[in-house]
Amino acid sequence: MKNILVINAGSSSLKYQLIDIDSRKVIAKGLCERIGIAGSMLTYSPTDGEKVQIQRDMPTHEVAIKMVLEILTDSKVGVIHDMAEIAAVGHRVLHGGSKFSDSIVINDVVLQAIEDCIPLGPLHNTANLMGIRGCQAAMPGVPMVAVFDTAWGQGMEPSHFMYALPYDAYETYEVRRYGFHGTSHKYVTGRALKLLDNPKARVITCHLGNGSSVSCSVAGRCVDTSMGLTPLEGLPMGTRCGSIDPAIIPFLMKRMNLTAQEMDTLMNKKSGMLGISGVSSDFRDLTAASEAGNERAKLALDMFCYGVKKYIGAYAAAMGGVDCIVFTAGVGENDRNVRESVLKNMEYLGLDVDFDYNMTCPRGQEVCLSKPDSKVKVFVIPTDEEMAIALDTDELTR
Ligand code: AMP
Repeated sequence: MKNILVINAGSSSLKYQLIDIDSRKVIAKGLCERIGIAGSMLTYSPTDGEKVQIQRDMPTHEVAIKMVLEILTDSKVGVIHDMAEIAAVGHRVLHGGSKFSDSIVINDVVLQAIEDCIPLGPLHNTANLMGIRGCQAAMPGVPMVAVFDTAWGQGMEPSHFMYALPYDAYETYEVRRYGFHGTSHKYVTGRALKLLDNPKARVITCHLGNGSSVSCSVAGRCVDTSMGLTPLEGLPMGTRCGSIDPAIIPFLMKRMNLTAQEMDTLMNKKSGMLGISGVSSDFRDLTAASEAGNERAKLALDMFCYGVKKYIGAYAAAMGGVDCIVFTAGVGENDRNVRESVLKNMEYLGLDVDFDYNMTCPRGQEVCLSKPDSKVKVFVIPTDEEMAIALDTDELTR
């Protein structure tokens, strides 16, 4: 049994999963909340046991990790006897800039490079570093791996990742498309290539959740992806506006007398599904409101589905065709109406979808929505970013 601890550190939170890599089984998972804030709490859910919640001060990420290790090895509710049973730790890191095209074993040079990427992902990278340093202090000598959300997008050609700004914006400020959700796009693409039994296939992956992005790849190498320098570009999302005419930004800042920070908040927190519908950012609420006759909720959903459809068409053109379309994440895996709207009228691409099965297929497992003779296969593949991080960590530390 080889256990990998997967850590996803936020500025005041830390999600963890302990995975037995040989059996691919999650042994325990949980969350530390309000780190550095009054009222810190640890939640711990062993797969074969009862959920535990403990309220105790967690002033730093290091203290939080120590609490996680304590409960994992606790004589009553623990799942392992000793910290030595954790072979390695995999850390989710948001931004690797252009420095990382793959996961990497963490050493001082890597830590410095992650720090150098802070201007590109200020909130996340700072928090990710706190998680790594906390683990290093609490678990000296245990190998650690960084898995970057931007690594997948490093497969893109310059003509696909550059913005047509003065070249200096790229050279001096590293402004380019990086793309996000890379761990998820890579994982479901890998699964699709296996299901197709074709390692060279052209695949479009639709990661549709609270944050959404579409990506496309040939033979497992990213060709394009809808998020950009930041996760704001691309589809309209829960509360993010996605791609808009860039001239709207100075226009609205002037008319509404907004600072750059306020404009950033408007685009990231007050737009998207929430901004259009005025109801919610959650797709279940939007569907309920739309079915009850709320026109703006319907408009938000229609805009979202139209956006996904446009990306699929664009990416099929970019790759000279498509062999497979994958839906994943909260909305992609669960929202049948969204999938139907996106997939309707796509026969021109070679799709023959079983729309009845789309409405009745089981949730939480890999299913094929296309009919057997469909030229393009359509899959729903549940994403599992933690497992992807654990697999990379295992491979690099074996
Ligand atoms: P994620 O960011 O991947 O966790 O996805 C969150 C989004 O998935 C939210 O907007 C949820 O409304 C949506 N979602 C989750 N379950 C369902 C469901 N059963 N039907 C429709 N949408 C869902």
